[in-house]
Amino acid sequence: MDRFRIPHILNSQLTTDFLIIGAGFSGLVVAERLAAAGWKCVVADRRSHIGGNAHDCADAAGVLIHPYGPHYFRTDSPQIVDYLSRFTTWHDVAYTIKSHTRGRYWSFPINLNTFEEYLGRASTTAEFSAWLVKSRVPIDVPQNSEEVIISQVGRELYEWFFEGYTHKQWQRHPRELDASVCGRVPIRTNRDDRYLSETFQAMPSHGYTALFENLLAATPGIELHLGVDWLEAKARWDCKHLIFTGAIDEYFGYCFGPLPYRSLRFEHESFTPEELRPRESVSEKPGFWQPAMQVNYPDTDVPFTRIVEIKHATGQKIDASTIVREYPMDWLPGREPYYPIPAPDAHAAYQKYAQLAAVEPRASFIGRLATYRYSNMDQVAALALAEAARLIARHGSNTPRPHS
Ligand code: UDP
Repeated sequence: MDRFRIPHILNSQLTTDFLIIGAGFSGLVVAERLAAAGWKCVVADRRSHIGGNAHDCADAAGVLIHPYGPHYFRTDSPQIVDYLSRFTTWHDVAYTIKSHTRGRYWSFPINLNTFEEYLGRASTTAEFSAWLVKSRVPIDVPQNSEEVIISQVGRELYEWFFEGYTHKQWQRHPRELDASVCGRVPIRTNRDDRYLSETFQAMPSHGYTALFENLLAATPGIELHLGVDWLEAKARWDCKHLIFTGAIDEYFGYCFGPLPYRSLRFEHESFTPEELRPRESVSEKPGFWQPAMQVNYPDTDVPFTRIVEIKHATGQKIDASTIVREYPMDWLPGREPYYPIPAPDAHAAYQKYAQLAAVEPRASFIGRLATYRYSNMDQVAALALAEAARLIARHGSNTPRPHS
């Protein structure tokens, strides 16, 4: 634990090769690569733990939870799997979820099972495909999140499953969001009801925090300082190059005003085995509260967007279970900026900061908040690896350690 301690040196500046702000996916991956190339890396994070929003931990009931919302690792990149597999083994998960509307659970994302539930009888891919051809609104190139869904399934299923959920989540109409937002959700005419489509879908066997602990343990050149915010770190360490993974508007002192973000409030509730027993007819298996790892609630009279019971996905063997209700909130200073807003006006506002970042000497900006992109974990890791490779190409290696 010594390396987590802040040195007691006042009024004197310390030096490092690379100063990395943020101990999440981006910060730790870039630090690992640079340290493996022999460079001294200081990683500072204002939070008291590693892993950023992917951090996981046991709650009071002993259940492994994702305190900052569910993190479902998936990728189509064998390189990312190979790289992360140095620090973890994997627990395969077919991530399956449900939607709850009109008083019942539905198979989701929309697939042939959903169509059969809608019809109330058995059907076929051919019948569903023909129904979609009749129902969909012909739009060649969808320009927003409403168009991307109505052009695939028509207005009725869009209104049932997407319109209310999206409005609650983003506080904007789907028409005011990029097509990529609702376009993330697959729509299938077969019975594949997995929420995600990537070829590799798995969670780190012992969780994300364990993965990052293994990364740190395997990389002696990283010095980690928790509970140190960005301005404090900047004042304390002089460096060859800074890598910033926090919010880009914060880095530039909000000089063009704050960018828009969405925040979340999480409400956790744990259940003992005795409390779970009466739920067995709902959860369909003992030891769980609901029938899937995630149930979405698109109805606008329900204040939360989803309930996550992550034990379905982690595979943890424990009798208790914990559910988490997610309440979207506006972002205000002091709240966590969970989501950049994927919309034309927000991208335009970000561009002003991006132009400053492009000419910032000796600084790199990576990660969801610093690039203002709605990226998944594998994309964030890929960007961190690419940035580390670029920096190593520029600065070279510094007496590489034998294991690098
Ligand atoms: N979405 C929706 N209904 C759903 C699930 C998703 O309208 O039942 C929309 C919503 O706008 C959401 C987006 O699709 O923000 C992406 O969903 P995803 O589950 O990938 O969101 P994340 O897990 O990243 O919050």
